[in-house]
Amino acid sequence: MTFRAPVPEYQFLLDHIVGFDEIAATDRFGDASADVVTAILTEAGKLCDEVMAPLNRGGDLHPAHLENGVLRTSPGYEEGWKSISEGGWIGISAAPEFGGMGLPMTLTTAVNEMMSGACLSLQLAPLMSQGQIEALEHHASDAIKELYLPKLISGEWSGTMNLTEPQAGSDVGALTSKAEPLDDGTYAITGQKIYISWGDNDFTQNVCHLVLARLPDAAPGTKGISLFLVPKYLPDADGNPGQPNDLKVVSLEHKMGLHGSPTCVMQYGAAVGWMVGPPGGGLAAMFTMMNNARLGVGGQGVGVAGAAYQKALAYALERKQGVSQSGTIVDHADVRRMLMEMKADLFASRAILLACSQAIDMQTATGEADWAARAAFLTPIAKAFGTETGMRVSETGVQVHGGMGFVEETGAAQYYRDVRVTAIYEGTNGIQAMDLVGRKMMDGGEMANRLIDEIEDQAERARGRYPSLAEAVWQACESLREATEWLVGQDDMDNRFAGATPYLHAFARVLGGHFHLSAAMADAGGAREKLARFYIERLLPEHAAYLAHAQAGAAGARALSLAELADG
Ligand SMILES: Cc1cc2nc3c(=O)[nH]c(=O)nc-3n(C[C@H](O)[C@H](O)[C@H](O)COP(=O)(O)OP(=O)(O)OC[C@H]3O[C@@H](n4cnc5c(N)ncnc54)[C@H](O)[C@@H]3O)c2cc1C
Repeated sequence: MTFRAPVPEYQFLLDHIVGFDEIAATDRFGDASADVVTAILTEAGKLCDEVMAPLNRGGDLHPAHLENGVLRTSPGYEEGWKSISEGGWIGISAAPEFGGMGLPMTLTTAVNEMMSGACLSLQLAPLMSQGQIEALEHHASDAIKELYLPKLISGEWSGTMNLTEPQAGSDVGALTSKAEPLDDGTYAITGQKIYISWGDNDFTQNVCHLVLARLPDAAPGTKGISLFLVPKYLPDADGNPGQPNDLKVVSLEHKMGLHGSPTCVMQYGAAVGWMVGPPGGGLAAMFTMMNNARLGVGGQGVGVAGAAYQKALAYALERKQGVSQSGTIVDHADVRRMLMEMKADLFASRAILLACSQAIDMQTATGEADWAARAAFLTPIAKAFGTETGMRVSETGVQVHGGMGFVEETGAAQYYRDVRVTAIYEGTNGIQAMDLVGRKMMDGGEMANRLIDEIEDQAERARGRYPSLAEAVWQACESLREATEWLVGQDDMDNRFAGATPYLHAFARVLGGHFHLSAAMADAGGAREKLARFYIERLLPEHAAYLAHAQAGAAGARALSLAELADG
C-alpha cells in the first residue's frame, strides 16, 4: 500500500473549517489566494507521495550512523533533502527578502504534516531549520540575518537546536554549557549537549547550531541563559564555509524508532559562536523556535496518524478472516469501530492544529494581543493532542493488522515506534499540560472561556439542524467552563498540575466536537455528518471522565507513600 498525502482533506479544512479566508483577506497574506493554496498543497502532495514516502522504510532499516567520525545518513535522504530544499519547502513562511515565500504558517503546517506522514525522520530536518530561521528572523542582528538566512532557507545550510544536557532536560534552567566572551565580540562555547536532532548530516555544506549557554557572570536558572549561533564551519570573508569550528558529534543514540534521524551527543570544545538576542535573553529567543517546533511536532503526530490510518484501512480491505459480506475484516463491527475512531480523531487533531496555525497567522497579520493569546493557549493543546492522536491511531493501526501489525514488514509497527518520541520532545506532553493550566491561565481563565463562548455560539447555530449533537457539545462546554473555574480557583498549584493532563485532554475533546459539528454543517447528509455523529456521540463523552479527574486535586495522586508505591 502506498502513502497518499491528504491534499483534498486539507483543501476542505482550509475552505470550510479554519477560516483561511480571514487570513488571505489581510494585507500581510494577500498573496495566499485560492490558486496559490491549491498549487502549494498539490505540489507538496507530489513531493510526499513520490519522493519522501519511498524513503521511509529505508531510514528505519538503515539508520544514520557514524563512519570514522563522519555522519552518514540513510539511503536516499540526500536526494530527499535536495528535493525538499529545491522545491522551496523549507521557507514557505520565511521572509521573502531572504528568499522565503512569506506565506501563512497555516500552509507550512499543512505541508509539514503531509511530509511527516510520508517520512517522519527526514521531515524533522527541515522542521529544525524552520525553527532556527524563525528565531533568527526575530532575534538576530542584521549581519547574521543577511549571512545565514538565505542559506538556511535555500537548504544549502541546515539548522539545529541545542537545549538539552544530561542534567537539564525539562528543567532547562539547570544547563551548564558556558560562553566566554572573546576580544572580537564572539564567544567561546564549551559544554556537552545531548539528543540533538540532525546534529550533523552529509548533505548540507554547513550545519548551524543554536546553543543555549551561560555567560561567566550569569544569574542562576533560566534568567542567566543566553543564545548563540555556532556553525560547524566558520564562514570565511565571502560567507562560504571556511575553517572547521571546535565542535563534534561524539556519538549517536540507539533509539526505539525515528532511526533515519541522527540523534547526536554534541561536544563543544571552545567553539566560536555569535550571540543571538540580548545577554540573558536566550530562553525568550529560543521560545520563538520552540513554539514553532511545538506546533510542528503536533503536526508530526497528526501526519503519522494519517499514514497509519491509510495503512490500516488498506489492510482491512484485503485481509480475509471470518464470515462477512466481503470476506474481509473490514466488515466486522469491531474493526469498523477502530477505523472510525482513527478517522474521527485524525480529523479533530488536524482541525485543532490548523486552528492554532490560523491564530499565529492572524497574530502576525494584525499584531493583535487577542490572537497572540489564542495562539499561545492552543499551542500546548495542538502539540499534546496531535502527538497523542499519533500514538493512539498508530497503536490502533497495529491492532487492525493483528499479528501482521507486530511483524515489521507491514510498516504498521514503524509508525508506532517512530511517533512515540513526539510526545516526549519539544517539551513532554506533561509539561505542555502544565503550561496550559499554569502560564496560559495566568489571565484567570479568560482565553479558555472566550474559546468556550465561541464553541457554544456555534453549537447554538447548529441546533436547528442537529439538536442532539449541538446540545452534547454545548453541555460539554458548560462542564469545561466549570472545571476551568475550579482550576483557576486553586491557590495550591499542585492541585492544578495534578489535573493538567486530563484537563488538556478534555479541552481537546471539546474542540474536536466543535470542529466535527462545523464539518457536519458544511457537508449536511454527507460522510462528514456521519463522522461527526460518531465522534460527538462516542468520543466526546470522554471529556466527562477527564474533567472529573482534572478536578480531583493532588491529594489522591500523592496518596501512596513512596514505600507503598514500591510495595508489591
Ligand atoms: C529522539 C529525540 C530527539 C530530541 N531532539 C532534541 C533536540 O534537537 N534538541 C534538544 O535540545 N533536545 C532534544 N531532545 C530532548 C528532549 O527535548 C527531552 O528529552 C525532553 O525535553 C525531556 O527531557 P528529559 O529527557 O530530560 O526528561 P525529564 O525532564 O527527565 O522528564 C522525565 C519525566 O518527568 C516529567 N517531568 C520532568 N519535570 C517535570 C516537572 N517539573 N513537572 C512535572 N513533570 C515533570 C516529564 O514530563 C517526563 O514524564 C530530543 C529527545 C529525543 C528522545
